[in-house]
Amino acid sequence: MVDSPTTSVPNPLCDIGRTHPRDRHRMRPVEGRENVWYCPKHDLYAEVIDTTTAGGLDRGDSFPLPDGTPGTVLRHGDERAGGTIVYVRSER
Ligand SMILES: [Zn+2]
Repeated sequence: MVDSPTTSVPNPLCDIGRTHPRDRHRMRPVEGRENVWYCPKHDLYAEVIDTTTAGGLDRGDSFPLPDGTPGTVLRHGDERAGGTIVYVRSER
């Protein structure tokens, strides 16, 4: 018996898709990580972080990507899983 798996929550929309209605697509979960998603098309990550931490971040701030490389905050997303989604763009 399986009770309400968290995987039933849809992946977040890619931030690019949010602002371009004709290019709406969802991000893919990062294997082995909870609440981290990646868009290979736009080289963009979304990650749930503590809401207080998220509140102290602004667009353009440096924020490490889930793999540890430097990234830049793009924008905040929805609240979920007790935190807030932040979209982070790779600096590669
Ligand atoms: Zn995308």
